Amino acid sequence: MTYIKCTTCNSMMEINVGSQVHYNIPSDKSNPKKLIGSAMCRSCGAGTGFEINDNVMVSVSGKSNYGTINPNQPEVARTLYAEAELCFQNGVPNAAATMCRASIEDALTQAGIEGRDLYNKIANAKTTNRLDDDEVGLAHASRLITRDAIHRGELVNLSDIPSMLSATVRILNKLSEAANLPD
Ligand SMILES: [Zn+2]
Repeated sequence: MTYIKCTTCNSMMEINVGSQVHYNIPSDKSNPKKLIGSAMCRSCGAGTGFEINDNVMVSVSGKSNYGTINPNQPEVARTLYAEAELCFQNGVPNAAATMCRASIEDALTQAGIEGRDLYNKIANAKTTNRLDDDEVGLAHASRLITRDAIHRGELVNLSDIPSMLSATVRILNKLSEAANLPD
């Protein structure tokens, strides 16, 4: 029996067979004891994401502040990022990671950074000094994690998402700095 607190209204929920729970990984063959999902609160109806490993709650996706997106950032990237946070809150880590990647790619394009694929866009952001070395590293890390999730069927841990959200905010904000926008 595992308990989880609703991150919206703080009601306690009990997770067991028959709970209003959506498991995103019904059978992760590499780790059958791992469950990632979203528990629907009976009091307020909101979802709270969770990751359980061998009956131990290892991660809960709460509402946290990962930074504020600069309002200069074009709307598409901001919208994609907002969806990434929603996916995380609802315990859908692969979708959250994918939305982070999509928002970074859109922000690079909107900043006028070209490249035939995401790898090359990030590389060009480095050579043109639009992103510093740390930001380039974060962008490549996000790219690699989502590549493995999308194309190689690997599953992203819920606990890996907060750092990816923070990194995405940092990258988007850097790319939207006024001095960085193309003429
Ligand atoms: Zn609730």
